[in-house]
Amino acid sequence: MLPENVAATGADIVLGNTYHLMLRPTAERIAGLGGLHKFMHWQRPILTDSGGFQVMSLAKLRKLTEAGVKFRSHIDGSEHMLTPERSIEIQRLLGSDIVMCFDECTPFGADEQAAMESMRLSMRWAKRSREAFGGRPGHALFSIQQGGLFAELRAESAEKLRAIGFDGYAIGGLAVGEGQQAMFEVLDYAPEMLPADRPRYLMGVGKPDDIVGAVARGIDMMDCVLPSRSGRTGQVFTHRGALNIKNTRHQNDPRPLDEHCTCPACKNYSRAYLHHVFRSREMISGMLLTWHNLHYYQVLMQAIRDAISNGQFAAFEKAFTQQQSQGDIDPV
Ligand SMILES: [Zn+2]
Repeated sequence: MLPENVAATGADIVLGNTYHLMLRPTAERIAGLGGLHKFMHWQRPILTDSGGFQVMSLAKLRKLTEAGVKFRSHIDGSEHMLTPERSIEIQRLLGSDIVMCFDECTPFGADEQAAMESMRLSMRWAKRSREAFGGRPGHALFSIQQGGLFAELRAESAEKLRAIGFDGYAIGGLAVGEGQQAMFEVLDYAPEMLPADRPRYLMGVGKPDDIVGAVARGIDMMDCVLPSRSGRTGQVFTHRGALNIKNTRHQNDPRPLDEHCTCPACKNYSRAYLHHVFRSREMISGMLLTWHNLHYYQVLMQAIRDAISNGQFAAFEKAFTQQQSQGDIDPV
């Protein structure tokens, strides 16, 4: 996707990964070239994560201490140290508009004692992130609530973050393997622990039904690789649920992915063509499927915003669930 194509789907903001950019091409190089907006040709807002999540999921030989995390790059094995101060510095070098506090994403399966220690470390790091960020007019610093699946820990985390004071509040440590039901159980109480007059941001979510369920529970913003990653791997989201374009049922199908969709993939190409280029590993496959998925997500979000504005969210949610459960159209 060209950035202008992404913007044309209705996207106002993109996310940059601190971990990936610090290793390659490095934050200092991007700063020297005028910052991330100029470097990647995206003039609208950019949110950067803190690098904490990928350090835990991708880096090798991690050593976690009070100071931060020492690790080896998954690319070339070089040694790096990420601390709250360094993460904030990297995000400043990138020119990020919304900066995230450095935290430890408590792994799924952590017991209450482990989740508590991890959360309290993240809260000390949030305070250091706040101090390192200082005052930067026009830029926002968001913190991240942790506490695993434990309501008391979530409350303690929220209280500590509110006492420090941030421009927005994320809910971290979800969508890490606990499943939708466990995630919704946390979202039944976690968002309302955070200030209602600030954005409440669910990190790393999700599938269309995760998003609708999260909004129903008070979430204002989310981020996820799913629309674009799925576009590259053949998974397509429509108002009738997900489908996989590699399935042979599509090979003679002259119809679009979604007859209601106005994206370029649906306006100009058949399922048969999209199946063919996917099977042939043509780049246009990833381009068109990603375009469709991003378009679908934007249409979904606009419908959610409209439903909220009109006081019709409950009716919207019911209709959405009903449509999704229909499943894909019958084969030709
Ligand atoms: Zn489409």
